[in-house]
Amino acid sequence: MPDGPIDLHTHSAVSDGTETPTQLVRAAVAAGLSALAITDHDSTAGWQEAFTAAAETGLTVIPGMELSTNYGPASVHVLAYLFDPNNGEVVAETARIRDGRLHRAERIVERIAADYDLTWDDVLAEASDGSTLGRPHIADALVRKGHVPNRSAAFESILHWRGGYYEKYYAPSPLEGVRMIVGAGGVPVLAHPATHSKYRAMEDGVIRQLADAGLFGLEVGHRDNTEDGKRWLLKLAKKFGLEVTGSSDYHGEGKPNRLAENSTSPEVLAKLVERGTGTAPYVG
Ligand code: AMP
Ligand code: FE
Ligand code: FE
Ligand code: ZN
Repeated sequence: MPDGPIDLHTHSAVSDGTETPTQLVRAAVAAGLSALAITDHDSTAGWQEAFTAAAETGLTVIPGMELSTNYGPASVHVLAYLFDPNNGEVVAETARIRDGRLHRAERIVERIAADYDLTWDDVLAEASDGSTLGRPHIADALVRKGHVPNRSAAFESILHWRGGYYEKYYAPSPLEGVRMIVGAGGVPVLAHPATHSKYRAMEDGVIRQLADAGLFGLEVGHRDNTEDGKRWLLKLAKKFGLEVTGSSDYHGEGKPNRLAENSTSPEVLAKLVERGTGTAPYVG
């Protein structure tokens, strides 16, 4: 594989990124990446387009997904790589999550519409067909209507979980998620597990349980992890024999995160590729 940073966490318009998988791959090539994982929320619908776009570019595409899970009140994201996208449980469970997200978004919009000029059609206009719907699409509609200046402002006000309109959506537990991904030949990594300084979603013992169930690594390099949290994660990685990754969580123009602002070592990627048996990486 050529030199160049490895970015294992990015989104396209198949979920809440602003670029098509083709545009995402082009951005990765332009940024000089050697490997890119496409990890849309609860969907594998962008894989084929990303592979096609990477042909003869020298870029390796790692097919992935960011699986939504719930741990008590916390939304915990599990990055999943190289699993079989046709695995029955994966197909059924991700369909269930996407359906739950859709109806939850409708209910959130219904409540916002009581206070602001906003319709469900306004939100649908911000999402590409069949994409995994989320608050970012509602945010984009609020921006277009002039209620807030940008996505981030929407998340800090109307869409905040304490903003008065929030509700959760169905998702499996992190343990169920990890077991499902491992069962589909995939490689699970806990996404941005230390974003809050005072409040840690998961106790050490739960992460140990996930490690025992086949968790491969922890995403330590992520702009939303606190410095204190990163130290905690590095200790846990050592204690439980987990690998350490770093990634951008790029969403195109939807977030300030830039490709390769955090990256993963070639050694860790090699181990990840060795572990995954559900789908091969695409070497462009
Ligand atoms: P949801 O899954 O619908 O609850 O929405 C959460 C998603 O919104 C995450 O996947 C993030 O990508 C995105 N998000 C969270 N906070 C922000 C923010 N401040 N600005 C832009 N996007 C955000
Ligand atoms: Fe997102
Ligand atoms: Fe996430
Ligand atoms: Zn993400």
